[in-house]
Amino acid sequence: MPEHIVRRCEELISDFSFDYVRRWKAADPTRRVMGFLPIYVPRPLLHAAGMLPVGIMGGGSQVEIIKGDAYFQSYICHLPRSFVELAMDGKFADFDGFLFPSICDVIRNLSGMWKLLFPGLYAKYFDLPQNFDPELGGKFYRQELAKLLADCEVLTGRKVANADLLESIRLYNLNYQAITQLDYRRRREPWCYPASEAYAVVRAGMIMDVSEHTDLVHTYMNAVDAAERPFHDGSRVVVSGAFCEQPPLDLIRTLELAGCLIVADDFLLGSRWHTTALPERGDGLDILTEAYLRRSTYSSSRYDPLCEKRDHLALQVAESKADGVIFCAPSFCDPSLLDLPLLQAAMDERGIPSAHFKYAENTGQFQAIREQAGTFADSLMLWSER
Ligand code: SF4
Repeated sequence: MPEHIVRRCEELISDFSFDYVRRWKAADPTRRVMGFLPIYVPRPLLHAAGMLPVGIMGGGSQVEIIKGDAYFQSYICHLPRSFVELAMDGKFADFDGFLFPSICDVIRNLSGMWKLLFPGLYAKYFDLPQNFDPELGGKFYRQELAKLLADCEVLTGRKVANADLLESIRLYNLNYQAITQLDYRRRREPWCYPASEAYAVVRAGMIMDVSEHTDLVHTYMNAVDAAERPFHDGSRVVVSGAFCEQPPLDLIRTLELAGCLIVADDFLLGSRWHTTALPERGDGLDILTEAYLRRSTYSSSRYDPLCEKRDHLALQVAESKADGVIFCAPSFCDPSLLDLPLLQAAMDERGIPSAHFKYAENTGQFQAIREQAGTFADSLMLWSER
């Protein structure tokens, strides 16, 4: 039954003792674990080196913040607090290193703080290019990838051949295809594939071995097929702005209970960072470089000189046949909140209704959000042209 699979995924993603990671590592003494912060790191490269990439998307509502608050001012997002709290509580004992992608000042500062707190543990501020000229940003990024690969080889004691990298790219392509198939089914029959379930299934892939996760996504889709879930109506919405600090699962459920069918979103954006599967022949580092320059999706953390993100969101609405957009941003998230007026205006210009609210990963009260989302969903039902 799909509910059983989803429950397993929910247990996995809320297990901050990282039992899965411990068991994976214990199976072979040469295995290493690399944690990473949102949004995107080149996971095939880590996989090829014999590592388990584990995405730490924050502590959600389960982690009580005691020590983490002492390291940060009050006016930044919540994610780094829960991350430091988990670290100070020794939850990352099985991790061999961490990558901090260059998505915002908070993550950059966190990487510096991390190096002071845990000087013996591998940590890399992973600089992503903001220039998309292959001769400039491309060359720079390929060098960064080569440095990261060399670091991984030192950590694992294993030389990575190009064939290893191509094989890992192939496995991540299969994973991407499974996730995009799930996204397609959600758009077509959102009552069969609720966003809250799909979220848990996709997020499990932030922890699990890639092939095991690909099988899991297919098993979930097959189980939903077999369950023959009944149709129920609702207002089709795209959720935008929640690409880094993740909303609590109960918040996603609250939107659904308020009458929203979430047909597209930017939760867990790193799982679908590339807009297509990647080539499986050639030089692996060149493939990953080209993929970042040419196949990355839009994100507030990625330089977008022509501001194409506005058209991208409108296209997402059109392709998913959505009636409106819910802008759902983490409190104090500069990248998301700075884009909010621009994207809202773009939706207004195109006659696409929108609503917005903020959350923190540990938000526990959803009544106000339920009322706001419910009113928005009702207004879409009454006045949309569907
Ligand atoms: S939630 Fe926003 S501000 Fe916080 S780490 Fe993520 S991108 Fe940066």
